[in-house]
Formats: sequence, structure tokens, C-alpha cells
Amino acid sequence: MKNIIIIGSGIGGLVAGNLLVKKGHQVTIFEAHSMPGGYTAGFYRKGYYFESGTLSFEASASVFKAMRDIGVWEKIDFVKLSKRFVSEDFDGTPENYEDFKRMIYAGFPADKQKLDTVFSELDRTAGLMGDVNEPMPFLYSGLKMISSMLPYLLSGPKLMKLAKQYGDLTLTEFAARYFEKDSKLFKLFSGIGYPDMSAMLLEATISVMLTDLWTVKDGMQSWADILAENFRQLGGDLKLNAYVDKIITQNGTAVGASSRNTVYDADYVISAGDYKKTFLKLLDDKSLLSQELRDNIGSAAPSEGIFTVYLGLNMSNEELSKYMKVDHVFALDTKPGYDIYNSEDGDFFSKTSILLHSSSMVSPKLAPQGKSSLMLQAMVPYHWMNNWGGGDKEVYGQLKEKAMNAMIDRASRLIPRLKECIDYKDAATPLTYERYTHNTDGASSAWSWNPKKKFYKNGMSVNIETPVKNLYIGSCWAMQNGGVPGALAAAYQCAKKIK
Ligand SMILES: Cc1cc2nc3c(=O)[nH]c(=O)nc-3n(C[C@H](O)[C@H](O)[C@H](O)COP(=O)(O)OP(=O)(O)OC[C@H]3O[C@@H](n4cnc5c(N)ncnc54)[C@H](O)[C@@H]3O)c2cc1C
Repeated sequence: MKNIIIIGSGIGGLVAGNLLVKKGHQVTIFEAHSMPGGYTAGFYRKGYYFESGTLSFEASASVFKAMRDIGVWEKIDFVKLSKRFVSEDFDGTPENYEDFKRMIYAGFPADKQKLDTVFSELDRTAGLMGDVNEPMPFLYSGLKMISSMLPYLLSGPKLMKLAKQYGDLTLTEFAARYFEKDSKLFKLFSGIGYPDMSAMLLEATISVMLTDLWTVKDGMQSWADILAENFRQLGGDLKLNAYVDKIITQNGTAVGASSRNTVYDADYVISAGDYKKTFLKLLDDKSLLSQELRDNIGSAAPSEGIFTVYLGLNMSNEELSKYMKVDHVFALDTKPGYDIYNSEDGDFFSKTSILLHSSSMVSPKLAPQGKSSLMLQAMVPYHWMNNWGGGDKEVYGQLKEKAMNAMIDRASRLIPRLKECIDYKDAATPLTYERYTHNTDGASSAWSWNPKKKFYKNGMSVNIETPVKNLYIGSCWAMQNGGVPGALAAAYQCAKKIK
């Protein structure tokens, strides 16, 4: 039996903790926040429930396998989401990629020729993410892992060929090849997924968000709570309000951590949170990493942060459903001048597309009776407006209000009575996310998705090993593009590593 410290109780830390405690190890999870969950969490205000970070996840086969392995599958009510796309030119809830194509063709008949070319390029990359009904190979060991890797190995030559063509091409560059920068179609094709992700991922992203998008009926917090409770029942120790301020090493090996002025010994330490802070802040002996690696970690780009508006509404779910039609809506804005790379555009939020999600439409008990809840999300330029006011609290408040109102204006086009029904409103900026999850710049999904800014050479690899012996990465930061799948893959690799 090994004594293991896990720093962080996001989905990565909770899954690693459960798997390791099931193997008979003594595991302590330290969580800085008062609740477990990290980005898969939520909170109540005035009786309304809101998701703190992620509203949904994909890769359900992997998520469900993990929950079955841990033994909590029966306790969680996963709900499949439909995604509606709305703009001035189209309005539909496509069921799959082919449906999506039909919707776009119908919306832009004059652009048929260009769309033919774009979709024929995208069609070539179809199926690259593997079978969505199969869990990721990283969640298996031994022969099963090898056999589940076979389809990927077999498509290797095709993958290499396509990678040469599209691998390093960002979505923004891809869209700019066919459409004018300020055109509606440019905004559409560069605005799905991460703006600077590889064009090779676009078809898969569209397919997956239409066929494999899930949430948790009782909210993400209930999921985290079930995992936390299971971990405790199996004998694990989850310490909340327990920020780890130091990872302690001896002779190049991790031997413990300190939190709240107490030192805890361990045979292994798993950092299930931010990668940069693990090495540049928490590690007691920075010389265990070469200066070059420290510089690389410091300068590597994280993924973009997100701005979220939380609204409690004096509006029934029935009325909200009339406008929303489904729980999850992507509203494409077509105003010119949108530039995710321009941190100095004070009007950014009046040009951005937004995602609308209603938890109370998923489950009415997540809002007071007769009322409803709504969240609005948009990706934000890095360090918008001198990183939200350059540390000036008053300016921060003004910028937050301005962004929030612009997003509400945008949502009002879809929900005409929205403004008059607001009973509660607040917002989270990337700084809020950093404060609550410690993710650098509020990075929403580990490292940058830009293929030209890779931290790991292989964007698909799971990298739990570190230069420090017995210190592993158990969070989404172990994979270039992170996300829930990245966190799961890291958790399984950590659990496999520690015998
Ligand atoms: C708005 C939004 C939308 C998203 N949408 C999707 C999506 O559709 N699909 C998808 O797959 N992913 C999505 N993601 C990303 C996904 O939610 C995350 O990648 C994933 O949940 C990260 O899990 P994690 O366990 O690696 O880390 P986190 O969830 O970041 O958890 C880390 C935890 O560690 C704790 N911690 C950090 N440092 C310390 C310390 N020193 N001491 C103690 N505790 C510490 C933090 O408080 C936190 O609880 C989204 C994220 C956001 C923000």
C-alpha cells in the first residue's frame, strides 16, 4: 500500500483518487476550494443552480467506462444534449454532421460553390477521432489497450498524410482560405471549437457536438459530489479548503506536500491541477527542472479563457423553452470586426457569438418553482483590456458589467423578454476561473489548441511523467488539448503507474 497525495479534486483528481483507493492505496486529496469538482462543478444563488465551468462533455464512452470502473454509474443521471444553431441565415438542431451541412447549404445558397470545396476538404478528415462509441485506449491496460489502439494504428498512414496538409493549419487560417475575414461564413467556420485549433479537428468537433454531447441532469456538482462521496466511502481522505502551497522533494523525488502549515508525507504526489503552477510555484526545488524547461513552461500558451453570465429568471421553463427550443443553443453573431486575438477591442462582447444553456430546462428542480436559469458563455481574448482592468477593482467591475450587458443584449435577440425577467445576475471572467480553479489565465482546457503553439510534441499523447521522480500529472494538462477526456486519460495513467 502506497501513501498518495493528490492535489486537486477536479474530474482528474477525483477519478485518479477513486481508482487508486480501490486498488488499496492510502489516498488524500487536497482541494483548495470549499467544494470538489474544479471545472466540473456548480453552485446555487437565490435558489438557482448554475454550472461553474463546463456545461457539457463529449467522449461519453470514456466517461461512462470510468464511472462503471469506479462503481458510481448507476448513481449519475447523464443526459444527452441537442445543439441548436441560430443565426440570421439559419436556425436548426442538426442531428449529425450531414444534417449540419444541409443546414448551412440552405442558409447560404449563394455560397454553394465555396461550401462544396470547404465540406469536401472537411469530409476527408472524417472519422479521424476514432469510434465515439469506444473508450479511449488510455483507459485500458495490457492486451485490451493494444487492441483498442489498432484502429488508430491502421489509420496512421492516412492520418500522417492529412496531418501534413491540415495539422498545422489553424481554423482561422482555414476559414480565411475560402471566406472574407468579416464574412458570416468566416465567422462560422472559425468560431466552432477553439478559434485557433487545427483544421483537422473541425469535422470531428462538429460531429461530436451533435452526436455525443452530454450533461448531468442534477448538475455537474452532483457528479463531483458522488465521486467525492464514493472516494470517502472507500477510505480516501478528501480535504477541502486545503490549498497545497508546496510540493516537497528530497534528492529529486517527491516525498510530500504542505498545506495550511502542515507537512504531509507521501510516496507519490499527483498534481491534478494547473501544470505551470505545479512547477513554477509549488515545487520546492526548481533546479530539478532545467532552465530551458522552466522557460518553456513559463512561455507556453494556455487555452483561451471563457466569460460566463449566470442569470436567474422570473420566467417559467415553458416560456424559456419556447424561445430556446432546446437546452443548449449556439447563437452565431454576424457583426463585422470580431477578433479573438485583439485584447484591446472594448466592444468585443457585442460582436461575439454566444452559447446559451439552461440547467433548469434540463431539470426544473435546478431553479425555484415557476422560474428558470440561463447561462451565457463566450471565449475571450487573452488578457482582455489589460487583463480586465490591470488590477484596478473598479475598472474590473465596470468591464465585467459591460461584457455582461453586451452578452445579455445578444441573448435578448433570441429571448425577447429576457431583460425584464432577470431576478439574479452575475458573471465569471477568466480571472474568476483562475481564482477558483488555479488554472493559469483561467485556461478552459489546458494548453493552447493552436497546433503551432504545442507544449507537447505529440498532441495526442498523455504525459503524466515529470522530471521529478514520483511526481505525476493527473489533470487535463497531461494532454495538449485537455478537456474531460484529457483529465480521464491522465487519471487512468496515474492509477496504472502506481502499483
Ligand atoms: C466554460 C468551460 C467549458 C468547457 N467545455 C468543455 C467541453 O465541452 N468538453 C470538455 O471535454 N471539456 C470542457 N471544458 C474543460 C474541462 O471542463 C476541463 O478540462 C476539465 O474539467 C479539467 O479537469 P481537471 O481535473 O484536469 O482540472 P480542474 O477541473 O481544473 O480541477 C483542478 C482542481 O485542482 C484544485 N487545485 C489547483 N491547485 C491546487 C492547489 N495548489 N491546492 C489544492 N487544490 C488545487 C482546483 O481548485 C480545482 O478544483 C470546459 C471548461 C470550461 C471552463
